[in-house]
Amino acid sequence: MDITELLLNWYSENKRLLPWRESDNPYHIWISEIILQQTRVEQGLAYYHRFVDAFPDVFALAAAPAEKVLRLWQGLGYYSRARNLHQAANQIVSDHNGKLPDNYKDWINIKGVGSYTAAAIASICFNEPIPALDGNVMRILTRLFAVDQPVNKSATKKLLYDLTMEIIPQDKPGDFNQAMMDFGSMVCKPARPLCASCVLSHTCHAFQSDTVYKYPRKEPKKPVRERFFHYFFFFYPARDNEMRFFVQKRTGNDIWKNMYELPLLETKEPINRENLLNDPWWKANRIDSTNLLLNGQVLEMKHLLTHQRIFASFYQIRVDGVTKNRLAKQHLSVNLHEFETLAKPALIERYIKQMNV
Ligand code: SF4
Repeated sequence: MDITELLLNWYSENKRLLPWRESDNPYHIWISEIILQQTRVEQGLAYYHRFVDAFPDVFALAAAPAEKVLRLWQGLGYYSRARNLHQAANQIVSDHNGKLPDNYKDWINIKGVGSYTAAAIASICFNEPIPALDGNVMRILTRLFAVDQPVNKSATKKLLYDLTMEIIPQDKPGDFNQAMMDFGSMVCKPARPLCASCVLSHTCHAFQSDTVYKYPRKEPKKPVRERFFHYFFFFYPARDNEMRFFVQKRTGNDIWKNMYELPLLETKEPINRENLLNDPWWKANRIDSTNLLLNGQVLEMKHLLTHQRIFASFYQIRVDGVTKNRLAKQHLSVNLHEFETLAKPALIERYIKQMNV
């Protein structure tokens, strides 16, 4: 018997009995797949029942107030899933007349549906032979085929996808994908896989070479760099009493290149107000910090990028004529309306909104 047959046989004897497995209604499969993202089956079960009881079809879900959807989701976390689900239901009602897509290509265009979920729905409900690859499934594959490449690289994902395409059965792709899901959580587990009783052990390259512990391999993540940004909202009333402030364009080989931000002093570590005012930055910008009143609330914001964590403090400073003229030499003076037209980082946009000016 080959891998596919062995796996399907194992599945028919060991599959978990789950309510959505008694149905091939794509609505039920979709809801269950979204609930099960980042959630254990045992925890997700009660939510699934509550959800389909409250919203038996896509029309009921689309028509529900967003608060009701979020309330039913309460406790599951990752609330963007609930918001996306609700928006997706509205998208299906408005763009597809309430008819759920019947193929992978259309599902992938539905809000909140990624390649794994689209493949799961398309294979289970519409027999499309598309591999549903998540961390569990990739772990099995790297062990079975002794794939050395790191699983967090897209080239490896592509390789695993191609390998699965060779073993996914055309007539039972949904069973195959579900078998892989169950096999990954019941047998080929992350820690202490049950190799001794595994039906695939004789074809498993990792087991045969006694290297199961090596797979899946992951490329170590780049360390996250912490940065401390001190932004100054230097403002002054213009002739018509309209408020103007200074911005600058980011240059150099760094994040947000060519975008506009407020004048910035960056430090290597957190800094108190006294040290901040004594920083050579003020001299370099020809601003007399001794007379500067850092008035108003300092607003603190955290901003996460892929490999950077930015701790930003925003200070509002009303500037006098002398400082204004000095700043004007190296910065651009704008009003809020002009600022809106400039490209700027989300962090700066968030600050301006929060300031409520
Ligand atoms: Fe996974 Fe072990 Fe089975 Fe290989 S033998 S597929 S590592 S459980």
